[in-house]
Amino acid sequence: MRYVSTRGEAPTLPFDEVLLTGLARDGGLYVPETFPRFAKAELEGLKGLPYADLAVRVMAPFLGDALAKADLASLVHEAYAGFDDPDVAPLRQMGPDAWLLELFHGPTLAFKDYALQVVGRLFDHVLTARKSRITVIGATSGDTGSAAIEACRDRDAIDIFILHPKGRVSEVQRRQMTTVTASNVHNLAIEGTFDDCQDLVKGMFNDAAYRDALKLSSVNSINWARILVQTVYYFHAVLALGAPEKGITFAVPTGNFGNVYAGYVAKQMGLPISRLIIGTNRNDILYRFFTTGEMTLRAVEPSLSPAMDIQISSNFERYLFDLYGRDGARLAKAMANFRRDGHLEVEKPLLEQALETFLPHRLDDEATLQTIAAVYRENGFLVDPHTAVALAAARHAEADGPVVTLASAHPAKFPDAVEKATGVRPSLPAHLADLFEREERMTTLPNDLAAVEAHIQARANPGGAP
Ligand SMILES: *Cc1c(COP(=O)(O)O)cnc(C)c1O
Repeated sequence: MRYVSTRGEAPTLPFDEVLLTGLARDGGLYVPETFPRFAKAELEGLKGLPYADLAVRVMAPFLGDALAKADLASLVHEAYAGFDDPDVAPLRQMGPDAWLLELFHGPTLAFKDYALQVVGRLFDHVLTARKSRITVIGATSGDTGSAAIEACRDRDAIDIFILHPKGRVSEVQRRQMTTVTASNVHNLAIEGTFDDCQDLVKGMFNDAAYRDALKLSSVNSINWARILVQTVYYFHAVLALGAPEKGITFAVPTGNFGNVYAGYVAKQMGLPISRLIIGTNRNDILYRFFTTGEMTLRAVEPSLSPAMDIQISSNFERYLFDLYGRDGARLAKAMANFRRDGHLEVEKPLLEQALETFLPHRLDDEATLQTIAAVYRENGFLVDPHTAVALAAARHAEADGPVVTLASAHPAKFPDAVEKATGVRPSLPAHLADLFEREERMTTLPNDLAAVEAHIQARANPGGAP
């Protein structure tokens, strides 16, 4: 299995190179040359497998010789062993044909754990084999930082530095990062905004000498391996609901388009998925694209579902590549125009083709609170605001057959919104119950590239042995 760049100019690479590279050298994203397909009989054979065994079977065709099957199996089993539900991604029935797929049973209570717990171990495995170490840096406004820290803690081949805007992430989110005491984990509270943090990270990547000296790497959502690992829970849900006979619809709370794109990949692999419903908040660039064929950039506005407060959905490029018939040159031109004037438009037939798979819906904060309240009233449990956006989208769509909504975070991660909607403050699960008593460790730094670079350089160990 080789991987090609969506912009057609970068060399094709095997899985382990794609894992470590992130962005392609031509600015594009890596995708598999072809999607391996599972025939109906093969899907039948996957029914009833424990989650980790299923993950190995689904991922194996994408890995080529990058990893021995036995190594993949032990790494995946270890990744999911700590999840707090034996089913890993349990389905909860909400109505005759309505299901919730709970993706918050990992260490940091958001779906990002499902991919990152595996990807952190893949990094470590590949680097150890190469006798090499890296420095992972990243900026976070909340969920990604803690999931990345949990994935990289105690890994011999990795030092991780996460920048967050001081005083601007929720206390639960900050404590999930700063109470991790592993010696390879470094939290930097930056005196600035999230955008400042992102600019600092970009600044370090653009400083070629610094980048090479520290062997900088990132585990952000454009990493192909994250997408691949996320396809597994689509398989898990579809097989549990009796497919391959039935087509299943999914509703996905969407920001960077990584999660819903994983559903698209699963569909290309032969999984009977009929539609993918995209739930967005008031940052509705995807909604506008799928209703008009035009993508136009606007300013990001804060909402009750902050992980979806995004205007440029980086993984959308992967889908556009397929929509453009895998014409990398054409996509490169469209993306350059989009970067220049914030506008991209596809012809009517392409929009119609896209709407055979995707169905968009948009929800404002008021309707999000109403949905959380309605679920509590009708079903008797709490959902987080991101999940609520997708649930409302699922109800709006009135699809035929089973509809599975992805619950992307635990309600206790966003207690203020949940309490506002229901009057009930959700409590943290047992493994985090003492989060507010744990000791915190972080360093406050000014919003200054030279200061941040010096701090990291003094603590990273890119030349050491794993
Ligand atoms: C990251 C995140 C999302 C958005 O997922 P994408 O893959 O970026 O579309 C939705 N909900 C929660 C809770 C998240 O953390």
